[in-house]
Amino acid sequence: MVRLDKFLCDCNIGTRSQIKDYIRLGHVCINGTVVKKADSKLDEINDKVTFRGEPCSFRKYAYYILNKPKGVVSATTDNTADTVLSLLIGVKDKDLFPVGRLDKDTTGLLLITNDGALAHNLLSPKKHVEKTYLTGIRTPLTEAEIEQLESGVDIGEEEITLPARVRVVDQHSILLTIHEGRFHQVKRMLKAVGNEVVSLKRVSFGTLSLDDTLKPGAYRELTSEEILSLQRGGNHGA
Ligand code: URA
Repeated sequence: MVRLDKFLCDCNIGTRSQIKDYIRLGHVCINGTVVKKADSKLDEINDKVTFRGEPCSFRKYAYYILNKPKGVVSATTDNTADTVLSLLIGVKDKDLFPVGRLDKDTTGLLLITNDGALAHNLLSPKKHVEKTYLTGIRTPLTEAEIEQLESGVDIGEEEITLPARVRVVDQHSILLTIHEGRFHQVKRMLKAVGNEVVSLKRVSFGTLSLDDTLKPGAYRELTSEEILSLQRGGNHGA
């Protein structure tokens, strides 16, 4: 059993004090009966709560896919620039954070959630969740450079990078798929083979792909199938 005001708070109906007012003013019903006491108890599973006639359902976690534009930072707060969270206009879920980071000048797919356990799994180096980047490059890659990227390169850390996958799109862009998330990894990998990244857009993250319909700066909630596929490990075939 849970208190009515706590339940409505978890449903993101409003702040604690707004909720107390809504209840006092008779905007809330349990099983069709107006309830005016904030400390009334209810059974979250079996009781039906409505706010101004609309059903309230409690969800523990929220999951959003954002097409990150350039110039915003992948953080929850920042003193100098807008954060990716500031783009989720109208979203009231609490404790949201981006799963991993994209550089300020990188665009594309960013998962935003408040499900810490899922994020931890997806970012775990042991899980090798695939990330694919549409990468604009300064000069065309040679066969030898592609082979280097695909077998692992030295980016100045103890370990060379795990084998990546390269698909040449045209002379100045490739699709690079990696299974790790080291700091500035794609830029450092291209630098390691004597090239330079001129633009970077993440187009997929595990089983999630960027919708063509999602314009830069736009976001949407994940579908339940998408959430389930991430919970299953986040990789195709997992
Ligand atoms: N690799 C980079 O270099 N930058 C990103 O933002 C993501 C991957």
